Amino acid sequence: NNRQRTQVAIIGAGPSGAVAAALLNQHKVDVVVLEKKTFPRFSIGESLLPACMEVIKKANMVDAVNAADFQYKNGAAFRRRDTYTAFDFRDKFTDGAGTTFQVQRGNFDKVLADEAAKQGVEIRYQHNVEAVDCGDTTSVLTVRDEVSDQVYQLEADFILDASGFGRVLPRLLDLEQPSCLPVRHAIFTHVVDHIEDSGVAHDREKILISVHPTNEDVWFWLIPFSNGTCSLGVVAEPAFLAQYDVDEKTALQQIVAEEPTLNKLLSKAEYSNPAAQIGGYSANVKHLATNNYALLGNAGEFLDPVFSSGVTIAMQSADFAVNALLKQLAGDEVNWQQDYAEKLMVGVNTFRTYVEGWYSGELQKVIFYTDPEPKIKQMVCSILAGYAWDQNNPFVAQSERRLRTLAEICS
Ligand code: FAD
Repeated sequence: NNRQRTQVAIIGAGPSGAVAAALLNQHKVDVVVLEKKTFPRFSIGESLLPACMEVIKKANMVDAVNAADFQYKNGAAFRRRDTYTAFDFRDKFTDGAGTTFQVQRGNFDKVLADEAAKQGVEIRYQHNVEAVDCGDTTSVLTVRDEVSDQVYQLEADFILDASGFGRVLPRLLDLEQPSCLPVRHAIFTHVVDHIEDSGVAHDREKILISVHPTNEDVWFWLIPFSNGTCSLGVVAEPAFLAQYDVDEKTALQQIVAEEPTLNKLLSKAEYSNPAAQIGGYSANVKHLATNNYALLGNAGEFLDPVFSSGVTIAMQSADFAVNALLKQLAGDEVNWQQDYAEKLMVGVNTFRTYVEGWYSGELQKVIFYTDPEPKIKQMVCSILAGYAWDQNNPFVAQSERRLRTLAEICS
């Protein structure tokens, strides 16, 4: 039989897809998740924010995540030349979890997907969505089962596109729109870090963001894992990266050598894995949802990795979309623009202010200010911890104006 039916079809079993599926399943909605790969599979995006733990809790996955032995994370640290500052996510304005994890995404995404499956969700691995046809009330996906190489049709009342950088519906329905941000690239790898032998003090419980000493829009991430390895990456515009070796691993080591403290921290590191480059990842869409479908996480807008907001936005989008979808499935009218897109954009726009402020230098003034007012620091810390939807926080409600004023004070 090559024509099947479900209430909700979800494209992709990454964090947004797995969480959305579990939340719908809790409400007895019939869901099928189509995932083109087998898990575990590699994904970039390894440092989580505490706010995503709130959605993981709702999806009843927190015990499984806690049991998986990931590196505990309680904050973010920043270094620019000789200035080091740290934000402790437990000391923040908004209520909610103050700690989270740094995760190898292959394992993490598998933990979430396996939990969704244990709760009763059907996940079909190696099922690739190739085409979509949106009708008035139902839509039809064309799916290839990569194992049998058979193609079938899956009819659904609603589609959640959780395909991440696969961007399935934006491609198939011509929804792509250029990002407001310039093209940047990241070169990254996993190293066996031996940081404890480097002679430099280091807090493994925080992501470390280091600014390049002379090019302040170039930055490095160092994300320690629980097994003695770190994810290491550099982000820059392509013209900057073009000055270094064509071999990515060599280029990464050359750029790391220019940041003295990072270079010392990694002086004993083994670069035992290949490095990879990813570029042009910032993306946007014409709209995020209609009565037929909603775009979750990276299938919608993706900004920039500097504040590790990707997985949190992905999970938050799943939660918002499921709430709207449950109303629609119950027969109520849903205004997807208001009830989903605008809600989600509150947080995305807060992060946009912070990302733009990071590259313009405004936010770096705030972050590296040595004598911050504790209450203000808690409000900024809340956003860095992922609580970017809390409109009680003035730095969310008026993110641009507040950040500009604060940057002037810190100048
Ligand atoms: P994904 O996790 O990408 O999952 C999508 C799934 O859909 C995949 O499993 C894929 O196989 C499947 N799929 C794709 N196409 C199809 C198809 N046709 N049919 C069926 N299935 C399909 N985020 C953070 O939170 N912290 C970080 O530190 C961080 N660092 C980053 C660094 C860089 C350089 C970049 C570029 C991003 C970073 N991110 C980070 C962002 C993060 O990678 C993403 O935001 C996150 O993975 C999005 O999750 P998702 O559920 O939307 O999609």
